[in-house]
Amino acid sequence: MNHLADHAAASGAPKGTLQRWLTGPRVAGLPVPTELPPPALSFEFFPPRTEALEQQLWTNIRRLEPLAPRFVSVTYGAGGTTQERTHATVARLVRETSLTPAAHLTCVGASRGEVDEVARQYWDAGVKHIVALRGDAPAGEAGYTPHPQGYAYAADLVAGLKRIGDFEISVAAYPETHPAASSAESDLDNLKRKIDAGATRAITQYFFDTEVFLRFLDRALAAGITVPIVPGILPVSNFNQVKKFSAMCGTSVPVWMGKLFEGLDEDADTRRMVAAALAAEQVRLLQANGVDEFHFYTLNRADLTFAIAHILGARPKAV
Ligand SMILES: Cc1cc2nc3c(=O)[nH]c(=O)nc-3n(C[C@H](O)[C@H](O)[C@H](O)COP(=O)(O)OP(=O)(O)OC[C@H]3O[C@@H](n4cnc5c(N)ncnc54)[C@H](O)[C@@H]3O)c2cc1C
Repeated sequence: MNHLADHAAASGAPKGTLQRWLTGPRVAGLPVPTELPPPALSFEFFPPRTEALEQQLWTNIRRLEPLAPRFVSVTYGAGGTTQERTHATVARLVRETSLTPAAHLTCVGASRGEVDEVARQYWDAGVKHIVALRGDAPAGEAGYTPHPQGYAYAADLVAGLKRIGDFEISVAAYPETHPAASSAESDLDNLKRKIDAGATRAITQYFFDTEVFLRFLDRALAAGITVPIVPGILPVSNFNQVKKFSAMCGTSVPVWMGKLFEGLDEDADTRRMVAAALAAEQVRLLQANGVDEFHFYTLNRADLTFAIAHILGARPKAV
């Protein structure tokens, strides 16, 4: 309690607003972005399904390009369903932009030979960065079963890729533990195996509770992991959709977040402003704790990501 509050309590004055304000917790100010190094950024896109969505994606890529991200990554659809579209998007990034692409690649539904062939095509096309993942069972199938001649887990894929070429390899990490892991420790052991097999960066599943991420960094360091663990940031503009998706991928959605989006189901404009404020708060808190690398799940939209990157201190460069 501070002096004024002591005084108010001693005088027997009724508990009023001022007293609540004076006795509540104090929050330290957030850092000034101009005094911090500009963040290292990466942006994730998914391959578009239609011509119209493709045009929209490229407009958004062009908008983000001047922020000079370290790399932009393109996802691989569940069960390898987007193999051709992922490849086409990555190839166009190489051909037409100044960006460095990273191609996501999964183990699902393909033999080691088939996966290796896709990787070789990337290597030959000048794509030297792979985000190596296990992937999930296709929709409708219960649980993940490795292909009989396939790579069973991401760690096996990382080792296989390293046999093909000296790829830069990023892998996935789970601050809230992967939903199928037998324990948080075994999941962290798995991350360590992926790094030991040759990955040099982990990108996290998205999360909303910053504390959870920071505690995960502590645990990872204690487990002997020293490569960067880059927070995956998902700016949320469709709260209901994110809530459903989070239940599947093991990300907890704090009650306070539901409160922020309460009553906004039919009000997309306000939702977007709330989303920007929320993500800005999250990244600034991370930045205040020393994090200077961020991976954005853009959902193929540029505006929220651009604004949040700007708040972090990123400024466009001439391309
Ligand atoms: C940054 C990021 C990008 C992603 N991009 C894509 C994408 O493009 N396409 C896509 O389909 N999915 C993508 N995903 C989702 C990902 O494929 C799923 O989360 C998947 O369930 C796990 O993939 P992983 O690479 O983490 O698997 P792994 O690291 O192989 O781990 C999977 C699970 O198996 C356990 N495990 C690992 N090895 C063993 C073992 N030897 N024995 C028993 N258990 C073991 C782990 O603890 C974990 O529970 C992405 C996820 C992230 C975080």
